[in-house]
Amino acid sequence: MFVVGLTGGIGSGKTAASDYLASKGITVVDADLVSRLVVQPGQPALQAIAERFGAGVIQPDGTLDRRALREIVFADPSARKDLEAITHPAIGAEILRQLQTSSSPYTLLVSPLLLESSQHKMAQRILLIDVPEALQLSRTASRDQVAETQVKAIMAAQMSRADKHQRADDIVTNDADLASLHRQLDTLHETYLKMAHAHA
Ligand code: ATP
Repeated sequence: MFVVGLTGGIGSGKTAASDYLASKGITVVDADLVSRLVVQPGQPALQAIAERFGAGVIQPDGTLDRRALREIVFADPSARKDLEAITHPAIGAEILRQLQTSSSPYTLLVSPLLLESSQHKMAQRILLIDVPEALQLSRTASRDQVAETQVKAIMAAQMSRADKHQRADDIVTNDADLASLHRQLDTLHETYLKMAHAHA
């Protein structure tokens, strides 16, 4: 199993990049989707969250009240730690399960928190999608229809570009059109196919 971990800041183009590699037949495991999956009704992590944070974080239909939970952990770092202690192992286990069921030559693990969490340990190679901050701001604000100040606050809370650069094996600069992104990915795709072959 050869896993390429793909990361980047908000609005950097992770989805644009992973959609392209998926169109070439590469299986994509999406850590954001997994993080929602493990707190679905009936999942042990949801039960543990309800026990730690109270019935107030569960909506009448049995699903997680994300907003209520966000407000609690935003105000209380120890609550955040408790939440992560519940969710991170469940997310890690489900990511690993999905990676193991992949049969494509290599598998992409797409995660905004690849480097901040232990998820990077599941990847043999780290690919960073990098974008100048001004472009990151304008693309995200226009995609999400939100103010640039709101995007700036999220960017400030994420790992700095410089730190991400240091940790990445490969960097794609997504500062031009999609064709340019795809060209850079074409080259890396060939490299990853060779690496995966050698790794097998
Ligand atoms: P998030 O972290 O918020 O999930 P992301 O890293 O997955 O974001 P995308 O959604 O792929 O980022 O890209 C952000 C926005 O920028 C999208 O609207 C996307 O269509 C657009 N975009 C990405 N790359 C390019 C490009 N090269 N040229 C023009 N628009 C782009």
